[in-house]
This record gives sequence, structure tokens and C-alpha cells, in this order.
Amino acid sequence: MSIRILPPEVASQIAAGEVVERPASVVKELVENSLDAGAHQISITVKDAGRGLIEVADDGLGISAEELHLTVSRHATSKLSTAEDLFHISTLGFRGEALASIGSVSHLTITSRTKESDQGTRLRVEGGHLASIEPVGAPTGTVVKVADLFYNVPARLKFLKKDVTERRHIEEFVTRYALAYPNVRFQLRQEDRDTVQTSGNGDRREVLASLYGLEIAGKMLEILAEYEQLRITGFTSGITYTRSNRREITLFINGRWVHDAALVTAVVKAYHTYLMVGRFPQAVLFLELPPELIDVNVHPTKAEVRFRERDRVFSGIQRAVRRALLAHTPVQGIEAESFGMAQPDFSQRYANQTWSENEPAFQQANLTWEPQAESSVGTRVPLLRLVGQVAATYLVAEGPDGLYLVDQHAAHERVLFEQYLEQRQTSIISQSLLEPVVVEFSPANTRLLADQLEVLNQLGFQVEAFGMNTFLVRAVPSLLLGIDPSAALRVLVEDFEEDEAPLQSEEEAKIIARICKRAAVKAGQVLSAEEQRALLNDLESCQSPRTCPHGRPTMIHLSVDLLERQFGRRGAR
Ligand code: ADP
Ligand code: MG
Repeated sequence: MSIRILPPEVASQIAAGEVVERPASVVKELVENSLDAGAHQISITVKDAGRGLIEVADDGLGISAEELHLTVSRHATSKLSTAEDLFHISTLGFRGEALASIGSVSHLTITSRTKESDQGTRLRVEGGHLASIEPVGAPTGTVVKVADLFYNVPARLKFLKKDVTERRHIEEFVTRYALAYPNVRFQLRQEDRDTVQTSGNGDRREVLASLYGLEIAGKMLEILAEYEQLRITGFTSGITYTRSNRREITLFINGRWVHDAALVTAVVKAYHTYLMVGRFPQAVLFLELPPELIDVNVHPTKAEVRFRERDRVFSGIQRAVRRALLAHTPVQGIEAESFGMAQPDFSQRYANQTWSENEPAFQQANLTWEPQAESSVGTRVPLLRLVGQVAATYLVAEGPDGLYLVDQHAAHERVLFEQYLEQRQTSIISQSLLEPVVVEFSPANTRLLADQLEVLNQLGFQVEAFGMNTFLVRAVPSLLLGIDPSAALRVLVEDFEEDEAPLQSEEEAKIIARICKRAAVKAGQVLSAEEQRALLNDLESCQSPRTCPHGRPTMIHLSVDLLERQFGRRGAR
């Protein structure tokens, strides 16, 4: 084959492949252009999941008649002029290739008018070439119409997913940007249905409510933290509202949505031991830092950035989220209304939400989290005096401010979990079985277990493959002693099944949490006064005594104040 220079149409289609992957990428480029043009209102119309039509109309600065033709040439941009500018970018675009790329794979029309001009101009691109440019009547601002996307690249069309998926990508994008830019009024209309609509009045919490509903918006904790040259704002879910994956963790850096797995992990880590492992928060964080501390020019769609000081950003995120979490996750307090009142119909109230497993009944029974100021000991429990055990399930204790009811199982889980993690730092105490135990599994579970053998063996088990679908258990973590090893192993394997591929450390924590659940004292188990006291003592020395490793509360607090009100000693109720 001889070497040739490709015809310009082919070259631009290749380049377009980088920027325009799917309809949502067109929406992204056009919306970013509107934001860069200072728009206060952006309306997006989508037909046939973006294949038929994508139209983005804004009330921004507009483009003059003289310059309009430049917008569709490659490397034509008004946003920078020297390479040095790249390091002070404050606009979303700067590469000057989006419109050229889109024009090479669609029928593109741009209509625009600046406020200085009394009429607008319309430009049409066909097959990557300027087809016409003419004056038209138009309001100030710009309307970009992209019809028949990928009509000339059938291979691309084949790669598109089902309509619902493409529509979801578009909606996800617009939703996130609507949150990031609360001062801009967004409207997304897909197939004649308004799917996103915000008011543009600048109130982020209101945007949150209009996008996710009041219930969820009300549960999101606000984040506001400032560290040296780094400002972090946004929202993150509390510990009761969780998701099964990380998709709902969104990060904006200087107004740009970026995908950065490591920074997403920083958010997840902030929840360490608060969430059931395998559950993830929902969060949207806005990071602001001086543009010269990041390099935005490392990815064709600018979805990744490089940081001068990544570690500082990572720990900043972790600290900001953790702080919000600690400030809002104190002991379960009880609202007086919950006594003797009708319970709300929670199946309705929470119908559309994913709750973590074993969602506490307390939450549903009209109790609220008592807000509590953050302090270094904010989440520790005070010294408690044991009163006794109730229903062989709850411990009753007196603290400096009233009565504490402790769920013995959840509390013990927490204690074991932290002891286990501590051992993990040094070495886990493992106990050999007198007789190795043979355990048989289904072929599917055998595969799952085989995949996890290494992790299990690091966690104090000694398990080895032993013929077809059978394993030999030689030792178990000492915490599990006294529990039937084959039952323990089965519980762990069941758990692998439902999991998405988690990180190694999460996998471990998840297994540990499971082990502790097995090993903890059960509800209904009578404990001696000595055992009760020991459990309270252990709980007092926990780092996060107020929730079990799965995120359920370990205790309920009835304050003296509440007791006094209930007994009519103070304040008429
Ligand atoms: P970039 O955004 O990287 O500069 P684009 O190809 O997306 O490149 O756009 C080229 C230029 O067209 C922009 O720099 C801007 O001057 C102009 N432009 C595009 N869209 C708009 C818009 N909605 N309003 C005003 N100007 C626009
Ligand atoms: Mg652009």
C-alpha cells in the first residue's frame, strides 16, 4: 500500500470520532459553547434519541456575521490565542474543533445574532463543507441545529446503544450541568417531553429538588469547605440513602464535569465504615482551584484533568465529605412525635429510592437524626452506666444526657469490625481447626470462592481447593471460632454473588463486615451483666460507635429534655 495524505473530509471524520462519540457528546459540546457565551437560558431539543435532531438554543453573546463562517473551521476558537493561554483556561472549550467535527458528521445549521447587530446570520454545513450563509431575522443568541447525526458514517450509527440509553446519557449530562450552573435556566425536551427544567434562580438546593425530587434533595448533606487554594462545595447523601454503584458520584472541577476514578474513590473513602460495603453515596461536588494548578488539555473531550497536587485535592475531598457526614450522623435521636402517633405510609414515601439493606425501622417511624456539632469526639459515645438488658436484645444505659438504648447485635458487630480492622494492620489472629472441614459448593459458587481465596486467606482463613467443587477449611479467623466454618463460608460466598467488581480494599472490608455479622451476639441472646458491661466498654472505645459496619444505628438516645417533655415536667405539649 502506498502512503497518501487523506482527503480533508476523511481526516475530519477521523478527528470527529474523538469528540463526537454519541448524541450526548454533541449536547455536551453545544451546551458548553452556550455556557462559554455567557448564556442565562439554554434550551435543548432532542428527537429520535439525538439521531434525528439535536438543537441547542441560547441567549448568549452570539456570533457576528463576519465571524460566523470561522466557527466551523478546525482550530478556530475565540477562547485562546497562545499555547501559554492553555494554562489559564477559564472557559469550557478552547480546542476550536467541536463545531468543525460535528459539521463533518451531520447536517449542521448555526443561526446567531449579537446584540450589536440588528439582524442574524444563518450558516449551513453539508458533508463538512460550508453550503450557505445568509442573513435572517433572529433574536440575540445562538441556535445550533444538528440533524441526521452520523448520516455519513454508518459504522458509528451501529455503535449507538438503544434509544433509552442514548436518551439517558443526554439527560444525565444536562442534569449534572444544571446543578453545576444554578444561575442558568435549563430546559431539556426529549421527544416532546420536558425531562429537565430548572429556574435559573441560583439556588442549588432548589435545582437539586427539581432534578431528584424533594425527598432526596432533603436528605442530601451540604458540603462547604475551603482549604488553601481549594474550595469544595456541593451535596452528598447521608448514610441512609445509598446507591449500588459509583455512577451517581459526580465531580466538577472549575465548572467542568470530569471523570476521575481516584477522586471518586476519595468520596467513597470518606464513608468508610458508615456504609454497608458495596453501597455507595450519591454526591455532586464542585471543586474550584486556580486554573494554573490543573492541566485541562489532556483529553479530547476534556473529561480528564491533570493536577499539580493531586494528593491535596484527594485529601481535601475526603475531609470535606467526612466532615459533612460527621456533622450530620450523630446518635439516633427521637422526636417526641414518634410516641403513640400513627406511622406514615413509608412504602409510598420511599417508593422510588434505593435503600440500603436493612434500612432502619427508626428512620421510617418518623424519627429524625438529631443534628450535632462536629468535634473531635463528635461521634464517640460518652461514658455509659449499664442499667440492664431488655428483651434479651437491647442494653439500657445511662449517659450524661439521658438514656441510651443499645442494640446488642449491631453494637457487637461494630466492636468486632473495628477490632478486626485493627488486627488487619498488624496480623490477623487465625485459629486452626482440630479437624479440617470439607465444604462443597455449586460450580458457580466454586468459581466465586476460588476468585476470593487469596483475600480470604489474608483475612485469617486457611481455605484451599480440594477436588471438584469442594474446599478444605483448615483455619478460621479467631473471631469466628465457635461458628460452623462451612456455614460461615457459605454466607461469605452468597455475598460475593451480588457484588459488582469492587476494589480490593472494599472487598476485604465487605468480607470483614460479613464475618463480624456472623460472629456478633444475636438479638435474643441473654448476656450476663459482665458481658453487657464489656460490650458497652468496647463500644465506648470504638472510632465510629454509632453505626454498625452496615450503616445501621447501634443506639438510640432519649435525652433528659425529651423525657421531661414527655412526662409533662417542662413545656406544654
Ligand atoms: P471551542 O469551544 O473549543 O472554541 P467550538 O468549535 O466549540 O470550539 O466553537 C468555535 C467557536 O465558535 C467558539 O470559540 C466561539 O467563539 C464560537 N461559538 C460556538 N458556539 C457558540 C455559542 N453558542 N455562542 C457564541 N459563540 C459560539
Ligand atoms: Mg466548544
